[in-house]
Amino acid sequence: MTALHDDMTHEVVLVGIGVSPGIAEGPVCLSTNVFDVPGEERVEEEELAGQLERFHAALGETKRQLGALRDRVAQEAGTDDAFIFDAHQLMLEDRSLIEEVERLMRKVPQKAEGAFYKVMSRYMDGMRRMDDEYLRERVADIDDVARRVVRVLRGHADAAAHDQPHILLALDISPSDTAVMDRTRVLGFASESGSHTSHSTIMARSMAIPAVVGLPDITARFHQGQPALLDGYRGLLIVNPTEETLENYRVVKRRKAALDRHLHEMIDLPAVTPDGQSLVLSANIEFANEVDGICAHGAHGVGLYRTEFFYIGRQDLPTEDEQAANYARVAAGCGPEGVIIRTLDIGGDKLHHLHHGLAESNPFLGWRGIRVSLSRHELFKTQLRAILRAGATGKVRLLFPMISCLEEITAARALVAECKDELRSEGRAFDENIEIGAMIEIPSAALIADVLAPEVDFFSIGTNDLIQYTIAVDRGNELVASLYQPFHPGIIRLMRMVADASERAGIWTGVCGEMAGEVLTTPLMVGLGFRELSMSAVQLPQVKFAVRRLPADQCRELVEEALRSRDAAHVMALCRDMAVQYYPELVAT
Ligand code: PEP
Ligand code: MG
Repeated sequence: MTALHDDMTHEVVLVGIGVSPGIAEGPVCLSTNVFDVPGEERVEEEELAGQLERFHAALGETKRQLGALRDRVAQEAGTDDAFIFDAHQLMLEDRSLIEEVERLMRKVPQKAEGAFYKVMSRYMDGMRRMDDEYLRERVADIDDVARRVVRVLRGHADAAAHDQPHILLALDISPSDTAVMDRTRVLGFASESGSHTSHSTIMARSMAIPAVVGLPDITARFHQGQPALLDGYRGLLIVNPTEETLENYRVVKRRKAALDRHLHEMIDLPAVTPDGQSLVLSANIEFANEVDGICAHGAHGVGLYRTEFFYIGRQDLPTEDEQAANYARVAAGCGPEGVIIRTLDIGGDKLHHLHHGLAESNPFLGWRGIRVSLSRHELFKTQLRAILRAGATGKVRLLFPMISCLEEITAARALVAECKDELRSEGRAFDENIEIGAMIEIPSAALIADVLAPEVDFFSIGTNDLIQYTIAVDRGNELVASLYQPFHPGIIRLMRMVADASERAGIWTGVCGEMAGEVLTTPLMVGLGFRELSMSAVQLPQVKFAVRRLPADQCRELVEEALRSRDAAHVMALCRDMAVQYYPELVAT
């Protein structure tokens, strides 16, 4: 009782994993994924009229909310996507459904939410048993509407909260949740599960949404509307912050803003170490329109365009023309530095309806990335043709994800050649000499980097997966987050093998995993001699600042010592010492 009461009124500070920097302040809003199914709550006979009235008022209010949502989506995404809300509104006008709820309430006088949800559940159960797959899939829509009505019944503030700026609390946030997040309403998010390199948090960083994950029980402990602060730098969720805490954070915010201004003054300067080693710093993007913002952070083009988000969140597949236009738009936004377009890396935590019917017990070790593309030639060739065509309009490079062996590169290249032949005979413009790269993110690929290097024009090291697969630690699982060690000497050794193999073959290597954007790992990146680092654009000014302070020769010595190190803690200490020596402003000591 006291603990619960304390949660309601006293300041509660919870420590999780800060995965996207920034500070957010606002009321808590529980994700719609968190839903308490209403049970039957009996009322006295004389209260029945009031309950029926509540029921009808809630239907009216829900229809109003759906209308507002439809208008917003129509404005932001187009009328096709908004159409679904019309269907939802119609559901709430269904006479037989309304009468059934009323009948039940008259038979057993009870609160409206329990009766309504019971009737809706019966409908949903019936539909789940049907043979028709389309109808079965509509169950999720019905449930969505049913929950919305229940939330309205539980208190208007409850349902309206999602429309106000808030800090979202959820059990888990999927990449598609993040994709549709409205930046003006979601000030920050906190979730019970997740990790630094799960795709939803990678996207949160790109979208500059502060985020903290690994906070057990938050959705059960806190309530809609409680005031909160989210500290994405230190990984804190503070509910019911005191005036003193709020004031402290105002000071932190001012300090961070001053540092940001200072970093942004350098955006036009080159990323070159004091002793003359140059790096290309580029941006990772998930959506084409992000390209418009990357120059403001000083990015030289896009080093990784994760095209799977083009496929996620829709039922159909994007056509070749649609893709070609999208890729050309990104290339145009990048200027001469160009864009590296990675072919579809669906699978893992980025699931899509292509996977329907295929429940994999180990999705990260399963049908993912190039494996999907090589088993779905039509799908793959549509994308390859679009990329090749975009190459005729601007600087475009092609990158294959999840390469584990030579045969995959050979097969993928053969399909590129086939696409070129087709485009040539159709008389379409495309880039004959498009550069082709392989992601090195599976240990087997790193171990045979010398075999793969002559087959491609460049390597791009995906450290997120390389760490996950090398250490056998699920990158999205907070239970093993402490084992996820970018500084593990085994990771440094693999990266060194890749760097050496690419140098011998005369090709260049970049890094596009999250390690590229962390200022603590910058000494390693410089010391390993990578030509390009690609990261969330918001991280770029800090990395440039670090590069411009770090002597490359000392970074090379640091790498030699890291290679001789016995554990991650030692490598991390080496990097931290160097960071503190050369750019203390950026690292908390
Ligand atoms: C990586 O694995 O490091 C990478 C950049 O790819 P993704 O995060 O999309 O798997
Ligand atoms: Mg990867």
